[in-house]
Amino acid sequence: MRPIASWNFRRIPSRLWGLARRRCPNCERGPIFPGLTPRMHAQCPVCRYVFEREPGYFLGALAIGYFLAVALSTAVALMVRRVWPTLDWEWCFAIGFGVYLLSASLVFQYARSVWMYVDFWLDPPGA
Ligand SMILES: [Zn+2]
Repeated sequence: MRPIASWNFRRIPSRLWGLARRRCPNCERGPIFPGLTPRMHAQCPVCRYVFEREPGYFLGALAIGYFLAVALSTAVALMVRRVWPTLDWEWCFAIGFGVYLLSASLVFQYARSVWMYVDFWLDPPGA
């Protein structure tokens, strides 16, 4: 791993923008996913960077996806409770879970994208 002093901190905004758009962590131009479904490209259509670096590579994305799902469900439940204070907490969390289910594909995409960007940041290929 490279020492932290060699990291290019000026690239952080473009990295975050690439992550927000779910683009390749190598070139930040090629889309990781062809659409809004969980199906992803095997490699970047622009730079040919292979997304799954080894078997079981996306196992860590499961933890990120779980965190995103809980955070999204809880945030929606809190907002529903704030808007409708007399509604039971069970219904607030049921609505939060429903919103998560509707956006599960997007949560999946961001979980994998975050995982790939963190891995690329900590262990860039060829370093
Ligand atoms: Zn690329």
